[in-house]
Amino acid sequence: MHPWHEIAAGVFIRRYPFLDQTIGAVVGRERVLVIDTRATTVQARELIEDLRQLTRLPWVVVNTHVHFDHAFGNAVFRPCRIWSHAGCADALRRHGPAQRENVARWVPDLADELNGTLLDPPDQTFEVSAELDLGDRVVALSHLGRGHTDHDIVVHSPDTGVLFAGDLVEHGAPPGFEDSFLLDWPATLGMLLDRADGVIVPGHGEPVTREFVENQLTEVAFLAETARRTWPELRDSGHDPRGHAPHSLVDETARYLGWPTEPVHAALGRGLAQAAGKL
Ligand SMILES: [Zn+2]
Repeated sequence: MHPWHEIAAGVFIRRYPFLDQTIGAVVGRERVLVIDTRATTVQARELIEDLRQLTRLPWVVVNTHVHFDHAFGNAVFRPCRIWSHAGCADALRRHGPAQRENVARWVPDLADELNGTLLDPPDQTFEVSAELDLGDRVVALSHLGRGHTDHDIVVHSPDTGVLFAGDLVEHGAPPGFEDSFLLDWPATLGMLLDRADGVIVPGHGEPVTREFVENQLTEVAFLAETARRTWPELRDSGHDPRGHAPHSLVDETARYLGWPTEPVHAALGRGLAQAAGKL
């Protein structure tokens, strides 16, 4: 019994307790596509062991975006092609070491593993879309717009309808807003829904339906609208768009959404900065 869950013919997911992450694998006749590589060399080796229980085929890898839990395991998968949006490779090259330091401070237990992890940017990049041939099936990689980051991509398997959404969709917790482009995120989720014709796999948590994503779109759109609506008044009262969102606004918005304050704080901070033209 292998640890993968087959959600459609030849399309597998494997969930890992660290950050409740969800990794994808699409098995073709000639190769297997691995979606995201986990956070460290140790975690990536565990993923490869798990993958070997699924198939002996060679792999090709895609990073949905630059965050450490999605791209820091890359080096362990070499030599192979690693695909991403050009912005992901660029961000890993430029900001990967700083991200590693931040995460080591945030998760001290992982610091040694992170320090022993070689950062390895994707070598196959694109701006809008790409197609990968796995032998008897293709998968489509698409950048639908800014959202969780400025370079998120989704992976669609047209023969099964499964769509891997990266962290544009998150199940079990509010999405991550620290590097987000809040004002663009609702439209990007709208594009994602236009494409979705089956199960949607978030970067964290369990597979979801389009109704779940519609609900998340409503929440993100409410945050974006709150930032857009309140910015002129905040600007006139001397608010620094790169500073913290006002506590009263964060508390009120979090209460309305039924969310903890931290993600709302991050979302409105980014949304206000974007409304002010500072991002
Ligand atoms: Zn992320």
